[in-house]
Amino acid sequence: MEPHRGRSLTTAGSGLENHNGKTHGLLQRGGHQAAPSVTMCWRRGARTLMSEPEIDLSKSYDAIVIGSGAAGGMAAHVLTGHGLQVLMLEAGKKLNIEQELRSMEWPYDNAHRGGLPPGSHSLALNEYTIRNPPYGAGFEKYKHLYNYVGDSDYVKNIVVDERENPFTGTNYAWVRARCLGGKTNIWGRLALRLSDYDFKGKSHDGYGEDWPLSYSDVAPYYDKVDLYLGISGVPENLPNLPDSLFQRPSKLNCAEVALKQGIQKMGRTVTQYRAGVTTDGLKHNKYRSRCFSRGACNRKGGCDIHAAFDSPTGLIYPAMDTGNLTLRTNAVVREVTVDQQTGKANGVHFIDSVTMKDYTARAKVVVVAASTLESARLLLLSKSRLHPNGLGNSSGHVGHNFCEHLMGPRVFGQMKDLVGKAPTLDDGKPGGFYLARFRNLSERHPKFIRGYGFEGGSGSSMFPKGTDAKGFGASFKEEIRNNQGSHIGMGAFGEVLARYENYVDLDPHVKDKWGMPALRFHYRFGENEKRMAEDMVETAQEMFEASGFKILHTSGRILTEGWSIHELGTARMGNDPKTSVLNPFQQSHDVKNLFVVDGAGFVSASCHNPTWTIMALCWRSCDYLAEQLSKGNL
Ligand SMILES: Cc1cc2nc3c(=O)[nH]c(=O)nc-3n(C[C@H](O)[C@H](O)[C@H](O)COP(=O)(O)OP(=O)(O)OC[C@H]3O[C@@H](n4cnc5c(N)ncnc54)[C@H](O)[C@@H]3O)c2cc1C
Ligand code: SF4
Repeated sequence: MEPHRGRSLTTAGSGLENHNGKTHGLLQRGGHQAAPSVTMCWRRGARTLMSEPEIDLSKSYDAIVIGSGAAGGMAAHVLTGHGLQVLMLEAGKKLNIEQELRSMEWPYDNAHRGGLPPGSHSLALNEYTIRNPPYGAGFEKYKHLYNYVGDSDYVKNIVVDERENPFTGTNYAWVRARCLGGKTNIWGRLALRLSDYDFKGKSHDGYGEDWPLSYSDVAPYYDKVDLYLGISGVPENLPNLPDSLFQRPSKLNCAEVALKQGIQKMGRTVTQYRAGVTTDGLKHNKYRSRCFSRGACNRKGGCDIHAAFDSPTGLIYPAMDTGNLTLRTNAVVREVTVDQQTGKANGVHFIDSVTMKDYTARAKVVVVAASTLESARLLLLSKSRLHPNGLGNSSGHVGHNFCEHLMGPRVFGQMKDLVGKAPTLDDGKPGGFYLARFRNLSERHPKFIRGYGFEGGSGSSMFPKGTDAKGFGASFKEEIRNNQGSHIGMGAFGEVLARYENYVDLDPHVKDKWGMPALRFHYRFGENEKRMAEDMVETAQEMFEASGFKILHTSGRILTEGWSIHELGTARMGNDPKTSVLNPFQQSHDVKNLFVVDGAGFVSASCHNPTWTIMALCWRSCDYLAEQLSKGNL
């Protein structure tokens, strides 16, 4: 039984899956030039691509934002809202995303039943572990090689081609999306807040570092994110999983309610999937629809009517409507440049990903939001006389304290009372359930610190799954019909401790398609994670038994590092410039007009999915940036 390869579909979804090159670009150097690009006009229900007037690179912008995912989009939204002139540089292309996602396409309407076209390959679990990076080697016969998420016709143009984007070092399932919106186009939508159990982890158990801020500092910004983007869920009043300002929740189905009730007596909580989805609609945003409960995001990933948050419709197009945002796609930033007199950042060099032409852009402030690992890479690439170890790296901590979430342990079972019952419509929702962390809160576990939660789901689905029935013909169909809707599954997400010795640096030999040194991983799970994984599978089993489910399968196998797609750390915040890279406003200790606003600033990973926190922190930091800029402090 293999874990499902679209990770959000297994864990964030129903939980019922059947478990089942290096080319060196020629860089043409240039000075301040006009950089041709394309722009997009949006009308409700119709998008057209058309030529854009060349963007003006002769002027200095107030801010350059690098990257257009959750962090870059939020930076653009907040800074343009403050009236700043912002240039957003995105390495990937602008896709006609509705045509990519085709949420309502039936399998039989797709030439490959939704799978990859012949000649393309996506990496499987065993290929990540048996082979060593760079993973392109050995796959020369394929025209395209994708990461494990890129295993469908709907996602293939969103994720990167591994051969154009190599990395080296230890095994890592690095999922990257290079296009406008980045990974938010296909994220699993689980939107959780962190609490002071996370922000003040060291105070709680003595390990690592506390964050230089508290829940009370971030809470008002979580509220702003909730209201601006929409989130669906149910308040539970848990100190370790703070509630959001929720819109209409989806309903738990029968087996999910049985699990909720079954574990209540153990003091544990199952709640509706907290989905970064607008279920009531957003009057202030003309680019997004409310959720019609089509369940398509659960089945294939992505939502082509944008009820699920994605950065372009949620943040970037509204920011463009202010008239303050200039967008340049196909712009691979290769260096943040520095004024050699003042030591301050003064702009960037970027390469057009198609023409390989090199450009320079200038700004008063540079905001790095290229995603945790790419941001670290960019800082390390931006060496100069004043910053010989990389930009903002006087502490030597850039690339270090890299952390994420552990995945793999899971349980799969059946509610016998539902066998033979008529099917119900259960997968018409953007997620199943979330089982909140219960370890190391009021008690101390003898074998490990920190905690984990479970994502899962149950119920009838459009395409029956969750059965290992073999055979064919009438008896096979009968077997499937009888059992469908009765299965329930869940998988754990646990905190990986931030450790200095888990880090990334630049490979001295391997370069990407654009001639930029590749990242090299030095990263392994440790003993705490392994002991936590043992506990995950034990408690999963215990909770299914307490709920009266027949257990069909459990697994304690830990998936390859990276599988969670929640890379964090690498430029952590802190009050001490000797042991941290950024201050509590994600501002570089070394370079005051440089901000890194994605997951790189995280001090620890928590066990909660990070995107809502990335955006809340980014909003807070960009408010501070705008204020400091207006005061002439940057
Ligand atoms: C399948 C899947 C499921 C997920 N499920 C969840 C979930 O349920 N909950 C959750 O909280 N999170 C989830 N995530 C993670 C979530 O998508 C990320 O946390 C979020 O997108 C991070 O935002 P970001 O802006 O830091 O990075 P990204 O979204 O990756 O955006 C970074 C952007 O920067 C661009 N870029 C990179 N390098 C450069 C450069 N040198 N120059 C210019 N541009 C550059 C990239 O092309 C990209 O567009 C999931 C991710 C995936 C793929
Ligand atoms: S269930 Fe809602 S969020 Fe998911 S694809 Fe359908 S409309 Fe979009």
